[in-house]
Amino acid sequence: MNSPHQIPSYLTQREVGPWAVYLEQVDRVTPHLGKLARWVETLKRPKRILVVDVPIERDDGSIAHFEGYRVQHNTSRGPGKGGVRFHQDVTLSEVMALSAWMTVKNAAVNVPYGGAKGGIRVDPRTLSQGELQRMTRRYTSEINIIIGPNKDIPAPDVNTNEQTMAWMMDTYSMNQGSTASGVVTGKPISLGGSLGRHDATGRGVFVVGCEAAHKRGLSIPGARIAVQGFGNVGGITARLFAEAGARIVAVQDHVTTVVCDSGLDVVALQAHVTEHGSVAGFPGADEVSDRARFWAIDCDILVPAALEQQITAANAGQIRASIILEGANGPTTTEADDILSERGVLVVPDVIANAGGVTVSYFEWVQDFSSFFWTEDEINSRLTRIMREAFAAVWQISVDKQVSLRTAAFIIGCTRVLEAREMRGLYP
Ligand code: NAD
Repeated sequence: MNSPHQIPSYLTQREVGPWAVYLEQVDRVTPHLGKLARWVETLKRPKRILVVDVPIERDDGSIAHFEGYRVQHNTSRGPGKGGVRFHQDVTLSEVMALSAWMTVKNAAVNVPYGGAKGGIRVDPRTLSQGELQRMTRRYTSEINIIIGPNKDIPAPDVNTNEQTMAWMMDTYSMNQGSTASGVVTGKPISLGGSLGRHDATGRGVFVVGCEAAHKRGLSIPGARIAVQGFGNVGGITARLFAEAGARIVAVQDHVTTVVCDSGLDVVALQAHVTEHGSVAGFPGADEVSDRARFWAIDCDILVPAALEQQITAANAGQIRASIILEGANGPTTTEADDILSERGVLVVPDVIANAGGVTVSYFEWVQDFSSFFWTEDEINSRLTRIMREAFAAVWQISVDKQVSLRTAAFIIGCTRVLEAREMRGLYP
């Protein structure tokens, strides 16, 4: 995408990618920020970027180097918070955009964090468990200087999980000389993780999906749902919708698309993915090899829950769903947003739809500080309340100001961030 914005000197025009999408979103919210608009450049510049070399010894004795990043976009409202992604397509622009969306998201749901994100440009499927552990530990050591329970708290994202967080927590703790469970969230329960965290992002997507469906007069029992990405977010979202009586008619992952008009057996599909690493070959479903056909599938709710920039000007016109629930971060380009809005498709933006993960991460961090752990019921009911209230606030602003839900969520989030910035003033 060509961006009219000034490109930071460390990115080339070609590399700007998801960061340009984020900047466009900020431009759209700026007219609604009133006097705070004078601070808007704050949102267009990450506070701190760390690029690290991550060398490891491979099992065969050779040395491999990977490029790692940690970006702290904004810490006006609290420590940095955001996941760590291992993926072969990770770029600085992507991590910058993901960190910025965390700033807006954390403010939109009012958890006391700034925004941050990290990643390593690697295909983790090409590494053994031992290599993966050595890479994770070296990466953690390299970013150790800027993370910490009061500075910046990583969490899982694409291709990282509880085990990754356990290695990060251990590495940080070894460097500190004491156990610091609050340095990461999304940890195993045995290390101070929170009940409900594993399912939290998908649960949040499901909760706001039900609210959006209600607004549109769509009943969840019998609703047709298509999901892109069947990992932590997509898999849990699909399961919860299926448990509520919806039909999961299509799932696409990095390999293929499986469809079943009467509804996929989500639990069996999950077991299949655990065993085979993909939805490919799932018995009881048809496979569609043409990936682009996924977008035209007949469904009521479409849940992108994989990567950014999936819904574009090229496919937005084919989408038949009346609601798009953004489980992924940044799945919709601004051009696609405009096409969908003209077509009357309701887009529930990432910064609200997938905020359940960071909300329960916040609960986990609070529990770690107090060493007092809550029941799963307490966590799920607090999560549900926060998600519903956040959705209702965003909906109200979108009605009052006649703007999209995305711009409404950005109005709430950016206003909170810039109010904090203004009250703190500029140092020195
Ligand atoms: P994951 O690694 O658990 O799952 C990723 C899924 O996406 C896998 O099923 C993979 O096969 C699929 N995928 C990868 N590339 C694809 C492609 N090109 N086309 C179709 N499918 C593809 O990751 P996750 O944690 O579920 O994260 C998914 C999205 O949700 C990301 O955008 C992430 O930033 C966002 N998110 C995650 C969390 C969280 O708590 N994990 C929280 C908020 C947002």
